Amino acid sequence: MRKPIIAANWKMNKGPSETEDFLTSFLSKLGKATDKCDIVVAPPFVSLPKASQILHSHDVSVAAQNVSQYDAGAYTGEVNVLMLRELFVPYVILGHSERRSVFGESDEVINAKMLKAREVNLKPIFCIGETLEERESGQLEAVLKRQVNEGLKGFSEKDMLETVVAYEPVWAIGTGVTASPEQAQEAHAKVRVLLAELFGGDVADKVRIQYGGSVKPANAAELLSQPDIDGALVGGASLEVASFLQLIENGTNKGE
Ligand code: PEP
Repeated sequence: MRKPIIAANWKMNKGPSETEDFLTSFLSKLGKATDKCDIVVAPPFVSLPKASQILHSHDVSVAAQNVSQYDAGAYTGEVNVLMLRELFVPYVILGHSERRSVFGESDEVINAKMLKAREVNLKPIFCIGETLEERESGQLEAVLKRQVNEGLKGFSEKDMLETVVAYEPVWAIGTGVTASPEQAQEAHAKVRVLLAELFGGDVADKVRIQYGGSVKPANAAELLSQPDIDGALVGGASLEVASFLQLIENGTNKGE
């Protein structure tokens, strides 16, 4: 039985004081939601110390939105894995489509970051997903296969078990267009088969695969009730306390 994991990707939103305001309010209203799902919040780098300080005594985890593939040195503007560990950050989002498309990160670079993260036991939230053009030209499977095979090169079974996969069709991210539950389930099942090919069925069965792409309170229950959808990576709808709480509530109760 895979425990769902719901993660907030705040992207370039919320500095330290907004992070504090959000988390204080969020925690005061969260109740027992973490009995049913793991919750992760990924603020920008500058807000990680504040988030870490507030969350260390709570059952909500912090994620960074990126990390360097390099160790300390002459890499202006970069943050390395030990810096994240020093802040007690357990998760890091890697391979997000905005990192791939806006910042030109290749599968090779993402793989280097994934391996670097695992050197210090950071847990990657490994994002994959096809563009609309790729889907419409029948390349869905090939794209997912390439991203999975290249991004997870050199991973052991243990590394894979410490990783969360996020399937995020690029055409659904920040667009208000969501994959239908059937489309999402179909892609998730394909990803699980790809993981089984690399790591065996037992490992693939245990890995949590989140769906991401315009998840909102209104569609969370239907998406998360699909058998291979084990949570959500949420951008826009995670920026307001009320909407993120409602999404968690709907996604974990699945219409019960
Ligand atoms: C994301 O940033 O990973 C994402 C899924 O964003 P949104 O929920 O806004 O589509």
